Amino acid sequence: MDYRPALRKDIELKKKDDGVLAIGDPLLGRAIDAGPVTRALVERLDGTRTLESLLDEVARERSAERSTVEHTFRNLVLMNVVEGAGTKVLEKARSLQETDRKTRPVFLEETRFQCQGSGQCCQIYDLGPLDEEDVKRLNGLGIEKVYPELGPGPYVDERETKGQKELFLKSSADGGRCMFLLPDGRCGIHAAFGSEAKPAMCRLFPWTHMTTIEGLVIFDRAQCSTFATSARAGPTLESELPAVFKILPRRIALYHPIVILDAKTRCDYGHVLELRRALLEIAGRVEGTAGTTLRSLGATGRAFTSALATCPLSPGEPDATIASVLARREPPASSAPTRDELLAIATVAGAFGAIPPNSPLTRQGTEVFRMIEALARHRADPGRTTCPEWILRVAAMPIDDPEIDQVLRLSFRKYFFGDNLLIEDDKLVPALLRLGLVYLVTLMGAKLRATAERADRVRPNDLSFPHMIGLVALRKESYQKILVEHEKHAWDTLSAAPSLVELAAPV
Ligand code: SF4
Repeated sequence: MDYRPALRKDIELKKKDDGVLAIGDPLLGRAIDAGPVTRALVERLDGTRTLESLLDEVARERSAERSTVEHTFRNLVLMNVVEGAGTKVLEKARSLQETDRKTRPVFLEETRFQCQGSGQCCQIYDLGPLDEEDVKRLNGLGIEKVYPELGPGPYVDERETKGQKELFLKSSADGGRCMFLLPDGRCGIHAAFGSEAKPAMCRLFPWTHMTTIEGLVIFDRAQCSTFATSARAGPTLESELPAVFKILPRRIALYHPIVILDAKTRCDYGHVLELRRALLEIAGRVEGTAGTTLRSLGATGRAFTSALATCPLSPGEPDATIASVLARREPPASSAPTRDELLAIATVAGAFGAIPPNSPLTRQGTEVFRMIEALARHRADPGRTTCPEWILRVAAMPIDDPEIDQVLRLSFRKYFFGDNLLIEDDKLVPALLRLGLVYLVTLMGAKLRATAERADRVRPNDLSFPHMIGLVALRKESYQKILVEHEKHAWDTLSAAPSLVELAAPV
């Protein structure tokens, strides 16, 4: 076909002070630095050359492999820089520009919350970032008059996250207990000065938010230590929206990163939102156990990343490829794990189990990861490795309550809906690996709890605490680095995790 690709009309090419060419996308609010091959391509994307002659010309000029130039062009298509690529995404972005974001709340309809008073939320979660108004308000309260032991401040710490300096409430060194948390579990700010005096994130809890091209996304991170109960009781998020809107900041920047799919492939976040839609739908289906669902999620994630990495270079792409891959129902991987899959789990769990714990939370996480490693190694090579008898006993604890599958599917849906879909704001595959590990830690931790309490089977509430440990620990920066290093084990982990923990009988 005589395809003559051109740059999208509203894309702006700007030479920076250091000579690097930036590809500015005013609609999606970002600029991408162009490497030499990318630059040679975009500077020729004027619609006059056929694709073949464009690729040949750039390969010749840059002395680059033809396949490298081809894949670089594919990345431009996947990032919606080429005219006609990502039409659906761009339409959504344009429509968002024209509306008040607060009139477009997007939330999971089943979302609800009822505090069970565990008191964990002010002890282990990220206590920030705070905005300037929060800090000003805290400083003006006269805290030292009511709590002389806390002194005159400052009550916040500066930390660097994602390369930016942000402010967090001060916390204890051993596990992040907020300095204002009273010994009886109440908030000291709320108790002395009323609810309105608290930082906005505390008043909003458990809700948090981000703006995507789909609207103002309001979600909770499912990190409550009583998740199995609190996330299935109480008022719906929908009924809480008027109160939530009063606390939200006036301006919320658009979240729309470039996503890394593999070492060579980048794509626009809008395409990942299409994957998210498919994953949410799969996670909501009741078919088999939650483990069956997990395997289907893994199979779909894998099909999506590999389809985009080899996406045809023709008009209408990548939209056509995405629509086709997500319309297919990927059969879940076989339920019988292979030795390699089990060893992949053992490797990843071993890496987490080797991290020296620095808080009560990570201590418990480490213990569960070590159990998972021992069990996975043993199941991979039953004749050659041994596993402590007590771990085999824990692993044999039956999980057969259908309510447990409901809780896990709710967890999967919340995982994809919120900001867990990417790690470090740009990596998809390690985030899918993390889902598999959260599942493993949740079920293995629940078995441990049920065993310790001499129950005869795992109960839904046994899931809550280890579920929190998995989600909170695996969002920590040092843990995320390990997820990125081990992303090649994502598909094996998602495929084999269910058979490792759903089986009741020890081998
Ligand atoms: S300020 Fe109060 S509500 Fe916020 S984290 Fe500290 S104790 Fe919890």
